[in-house]
Amino acid sequence: MKQQQYNFSSAQCTVYTETSFDAVRDISKERIIIITDENVHAAHSQKLDAYEHIIIPAGEQYKNQSTVDNIIQQLIRLHADRQTLIIGMGGGVVTDIAGYTASVYMRGLKFGFIPTTILAMVDAAMGGKNGIDVGLYKNMVGIIRQPEFILYDLSFLQTLPKTEWINGFAEIIKHACIKDEKMFELLEANTIENFQQDNNLLNELIAKNVSIKMSVVVNDEFEKGDRKLLNFGHTIGHAIENIHQLPHGHAISIGMVAACIISEEMNNFFTTDKKKVITLLEQYQLPVSFRPDKEKLLQLMLSDKKRDHDTMNFILLNRIGNAVVKPIPLGQLKDLVEQCF
Ligand code: ADP
Ligand code: ZN
Repeated sequence: MKQQQYNFSSAQCTVYTETSFDAVRDISKERIIIITDENVHAAHSQKLDAYEHIIIPAGEQYKNQSTVDNIIQQLIRLHADRQTLIIGMGGGVVTDIAGYTASVYMRGLKFGFIPTTILAMVDAAMGGKNGIDVGLYKNMVGIIRQPEFILYDLSFLQTLPKTEWINGFAEIIKHACIKDEKMFELLEANTIENFQQDNNLLNELIAKNVSIKMSVVVNDEFEKGDRKLLNFGHTIGHAIENIHQLPHGHAISIGMVAACIISEEMNNFFTTDKKKVITLLEQYQLPVSFRPDKEKLLQLMLSDKKRDHDTMNFILLNRIGNAVVKPIPLGQLKDLVEQCF
């Protein structure tokens, strides 16, 4: 087992890698209650049943206050108190809900994560942003509070459906686009199947993504600067995800293509590099074209958290592996959306 500690403003987070689920007992001597979803439970009940656990329904549509209320009722019934450690084990929906609920129940219990999807491993489990959706608005309510630990057991991925692998690779390609040209080349030289078949290669890829995301969030916990870059593809992506109910990775893929087109238009991003990004997304079986409801898209984008008075902060690429935040006047958005779709 490898472990690395990250220091945040008022918390520390330890990342355990090259380990297995069974290490949980060594990591924590406290009472543990695991929050998971029905699919993860069905696939890994042998491991989970050795612990007290709460099962929530699977899917983004349950990432809401009513699921939180339900978990809180169960925590009360189980007499969970401040000496109890909550562990969120599952994909990004589970880690978000578990982190949020643990943070508000009794004004805050300690919590840790065991991510079981690619997306949660390379993105959602890190950085302490944990929240829920309110109607159409994603992550509208939430907190920034760091988990005590994140434990990586890559064997959980053996039961992850292919569609969820594809979803997770959208965030990996995002990291490559904004921070790591070398990783972009590694991805170009491979396919999802290569990573599924070669444990060392997968290990290396996940470790690289953990280190990219952790170093960004540790240096900018409250999103004053560099952390904004992680929103590449997400402004348009989130809006499309909400309107058309696409999987997050698909929506982000379409959002990244749009951000590349805007980068080409407003930031001298090379057309050849734009084509490279599109080719890579296709190679990982992600969608690169879409006809959104443009009217609704514009309307929803205007309610985005990244809106700042009369401009919207967009993440654009300078080149592959290097990104920048650019304020775009709201008046220009309509034309840009026309150009993208
Ligand atoms: P995210 O894509 O943000 O990680 P979810 O938490 O919704 O989102 O997870 C995606 C789907 O994959 C859910 O249906 C979840 O139940 C399922 N899932 C998560 N981990 C596993 C796993 N290791 N094996 C099988 N299914 C899983
Ligand atoms: Zn994302």
